[in-house]
Amino acid sequence: MTTPTPAATLAPDPRKVGFIGLGHMGGGMARNLLAAGYDLVVHDLNRDAAAALEAGGARWAATPAEAGAGRDVVLTSLPAPPHVEQVLLGPDGLLSGMPPGSVWADVSTSVPAVADKVRELATPRGIDVLDAPVSGMAAGAAAGTLAIYVGGSAAVLERVRPVFDVIGNPEKIVHCGGHGAGYTVKLMLNLLWFAELVVTTEVLAIGTEAGVDLATLRRALMASPSTSNFLEKDVLYVLERGDYDEGFTLALACKDLGLAVDLARAVGVPAEASALVEQTYRRARAQYGDSGGEMLPMKLTEDLTGHPLRL
Ligand code: NAD
Repeated sequence: MTTPTPAATLAPDPRKVGFIGLGHMGGGMARNLLAAGYDLVVHDLNRDAAAALEAGGARWAATPAEAGAGRDVVLTSLPAPPHVEQVLLGPDGLLSGMPPGSVWADVSTSVPAVADKVRELATPRGIDVLDAPVSGMAAGAAAGTLAIYVGGSAAVLERVRPVFDVIGNPEKIVHCGGHGAGYTVKLMLNLLWFAELVVTTEVLAIGTEAGVDLATLRRALMASPSTSNFLEKDVLYVLERGDYDEGFTLALACKDLGLAVDLARAVGVPAEASALVEQTYRRARAQYGDSGGEMLPMKLTEDLTGHPLRL
């Protein structure tokens, strides 16, 4: 008789889920899991963040370890790598509570170094690890339409897929490669988006200061080889509504840009343009504060010209 592997103890469709970090992103994801009928245990530094979920049937865990006890899968949606390390490996940490056969999937935008430390301790205990950062803004978290960038074993992804299908768009769940590949892809797509924001803002400001109507300029650019998803969709938050997206703060945007530039340094790729984008974001954070929205670098230029970019 063979001894079952720990993985075999996970039900084909994991039903018992833990969720730690109930902010702009985690709050929406946890609500969708609850609405889909999952048996949900939640934890956050701030218990108020769990109030609506508890009212809807989720169980509160007083510590990360308690949030992991008896769970098939635990998701964490935390601000930055130090928070992930604290929650997983700190006192009463999540890892100490998770049973063999369970999976920790980190949907935070983080770096492999922390997950590597966790994995070293998790693997001998039969606990699997995935990095699974997301994109789609707080609106996508609320709607359950996130894109998910997964790093780790394809077989473990298949076990967790039913959970990811609830929080994300099943067609936008991308297996990026081995451990850490999801984090890397997420940092790169954010770097590209922030760069597009900074350059698109300059293009729109220069063109309109030179006398071209904003709507005409944008329409012409969209019909050109220089069009982008940012120009076609995301820029409208500001152009139509003056909404700089407080659902994603400048503090977190600067964290992501810092991690992206650090990664460039670590792999030896010069990143002049990326470093400039990071500095622009740091200027916006200094000007408008940590909790300002991720699109406020547009306002830096608007304040300089004295002309808000509005349709
Ligand atoms: P947030 O600050 O709104 O939420 C983070 C939550 O984690 C808060 O509720 C906070 O209380 C909790 N928390 C912090 N430290 C904790 C600890 N030690 N123990 C328990 N709970 C703790 O952040 P967010 O915007 O939801 O982002 C979460 C992650 O998702 C970040 O890594 C971010 O970069 C990424 N992300 C955000 C967006 C977005 O649009 N907001 C989009 C994609 C990815």
